[in-house]
Amino acid sequence: MATSIASRTALYNGVEMPWLGLGVWKMNEGSEVEKAVRSAIDAGYRSIDTAAIYNNEEGVGKAIRDCGVPREELFITTKVWNADQGYNAALNAFKASRERLGVEYIDLYLIHWPVKEKYKETWKALEKLYESGVVRAIGVSNFHIHHLQDIMAGSNVVPMVNQVEYHPLLNQQPLRQFCEANRIQLEAWSPLMQGRLNEPALIELAEKYSKSPAQIVLRWDLQNKVITIPKSVSPERIAENANIFDFVLADEDMAKINALNQNQRFGADPDNFNF
Ligand code: NDP
Repeated sequence: MATSIASRTALYNGVEMPWLGLGVWKMNEGSEVEKAVRSAIDAGYRSIDTAAIYNNEEGVGKAIRDCGVPREELFITTKVWNADQGYNAALNAFKASRERLGVEYIDLYLIHWPVKEKYKETWKALEKLYESGVVRAIGVSNFHIHHLQDIMAGSNVVPMVNQVEYHPLLNQQPLRQFCEANRIQLEAWSPLMQGRLNEPALIELAEKYSKSPAQIVLRWDLQNKVITIPKSVSPERIAENANIFDFVLADEDMAKINALNQNQRFGADPDNFNF
């Protein structure tokens, strides 16, 4: 169970991944991303979630090199973009990401979206990278159950992580159960609904626990055993989003948040995206 910002969960291959990380989508390359990553590491975060398409891997790399925390204590995730899918293209994309980040190895490498006709070949490339030791864990993102079944039917390595849109309005119950049954760790993207936190039930719970709506949602993630990676460029909010280890949501309040589900996406549906 997550008892502090240092808490990690063991993926099925034994690699330990922090329950809480910083997401850096939409952060500008250069000082914006560098400052945010540095603030997060100073606040005790050890996990950073980037992607080739975010165009800020160099800034993430610079921040982690300069932060004074040893590389082996940090957990860096990046992702292969859709245009780079396929076996050779994915291997090249990995090389380029690793160079931009300026690291010897990446902790978690993900297929960003399930590009039809391509993701199985891409997965073979990730298996190869995993076998050669340049990534400590491999996984997928935006995979529905049928995509996972497809990958699992034809490969040697089951994805260790599935990173998907997950928040109170989209709690992905069937996918969560499928992942749990197959030891695939679920990870939440847009956990804060991209800042749409005006839900009355969340505000009510925030008052009850003397926390903010963001903290209520992030705590709900942890109690559901879902890794969470809120994004903020503000040092105050970065600290606020990590201050979630000193309270426990009662079962009845977990149920209240579970009941908010409307299967509502703010991002694309993995069965219907065109990018
Ligand atoms: P989030 O749900 O994390 O919300 C971020 C927004 O909420 C920002 O506008 C931020 O503003 C605001 N915010 C942050 N903290 C608070 C707070 N305590 N109170 C109120 N508002 C707050 O959105 P993201 O879409 O960025 O998702 C998180 C991460 O997930 C991404 O950064 C990325 O790493 C990953 N992701 C992955 C995807 C995938 O396809 N695999 C797709 C989308 C995201 P401010 O910065 O001004 O504080």
